[in-house]
Amino acid sequence: MKTYAIATIPGDGIGKEVVPAGRRVLEAVAAASGGFAFEFEDFGWGGDWFRAHGEMMPADGLAALRGKDAILFGSAGDPHIPDHVTLWGLRLKICQGFDQYANVRPTRILPGIDAPLKRCRPEDLDWVIVRENSEGEYAGVGGRAHQGHPIEVATDVSMMTRVGVERILRFAFELARSRPRRLLTVVTKSNAQRHAMVMWDEVAAQVAQDFPEVRWDKELVDAMTARMVNRPASIDTVVATNLHADILSDLAAALAGSLGIAPTANLDPERRYPSMFEPIHGSAFDIMGQGLANPVGTFWSCVMLLEHLGEAAAARRLMQAIETVTATPALHTRDLGGRATTAEVTQAVCRQLAAAAR
Ligand code: ATP
Repeated sequence: MKTYAIATIPGDGIGKEVVPAGRRVLEAVAAASGGFAFEFEDFGWGGDWFRAHGEMMPADGLAALRGKDAILFGSAGDPHIPDHVTLWGLRLKICQGFDQYANVRPTRILPGIDAPLKRCRPEDLDWVIVRENSEGEYAGVGGRAHQGHPIEVATDVSMMTRVGVERILRFAFELARSRPRRLLTVVTKSNAQRHAMVMWDEVAAQVAQDFPEVRWDKELVDAMTARMVNRPASIDTVVATNLHADILSDLAAALAGSLGIAPTANLDPERRYPSMFEPIHGSAFDIMGQGLANPVGTFWSCVMLLEHLGEAAAARRLMQAIETVTATPALHTRDLGGRATTAEVTQAVCRQLAAAAR
């Protein structure tokens, strides 16, 4: 029987609740599917680790993850540690260390979810946003000088390489080709950002020649926000820069009903390193430790993890179980207007998996 080695990194806040829930669901889907199993190793990195050791994860932490088949991540964020320290010290360290350059964020209105766009039917909103995840605005290039003086200067240089742009566009065209509508929207801001974004447009036109089956169009990022709200059915697959897609995918999650539902995958498409799967929400300290966290974003991330491992049937089985549970209002957590707890939703998904296997 195949055994997959999975690293779990709960991180901070509600990550410590949703990642153990995700692990239970993965165990349940393996039991229901047969043919494969999981071997988990848990890493207690994050804010507490920082307080004890002065760093978010050990210097040799990547080596401990290197041999895993996948990583299930919770969130990094701590009210007592600056956000740029928690982000760069853990999540980005893994994404960049393992060159997980494609961040993939599916969005759908799941059954039973009351989404805010009243004229949008569930079938009108079925998107995948592909975010460039290795460079651009979040390349980490820049610095500060003359700190504290009136002449202080600070820069964050957005760095786009042709290799980086081409590989993410190629990935997005391939993904668009694999989806029924074969439709891709390339988002830029090439009117105002007249160097790197113009290069994006040029590379997009070149890569498009290799994908004659894919219909594609271009949209400026500001216009894209309005199109997402006003014409959701005109969108299928979307590709955008690190910053632009970061913002668009939070909007997408809100339009689908809750931040608590949305999943994401940080992929190394070449499979040189393990890829990482996580809910898109953060540590949500306001609700931590109360059993209020919606674990659905983590469960959907587990679906993506299974797809990445090539366990397509198990992935479908888990997605069906999730959708059966979201279709039941009594199993909605507070963010969806319900009163169910994290544990109750987790148990319901596990039960559903077991029932469907019988
Ligand atoms: P961070 O600084 O780590 O990004 P944050 O608390 O600023 O975290 P999020 O965690 O992304 O931001 O979420 C904002 C709010 O949305 C939270 O305060 C919480 O109330 C709600 N929320 C987010 N995720 C969930 C979830 N899984 N279940 C229920 N509510 C959630």
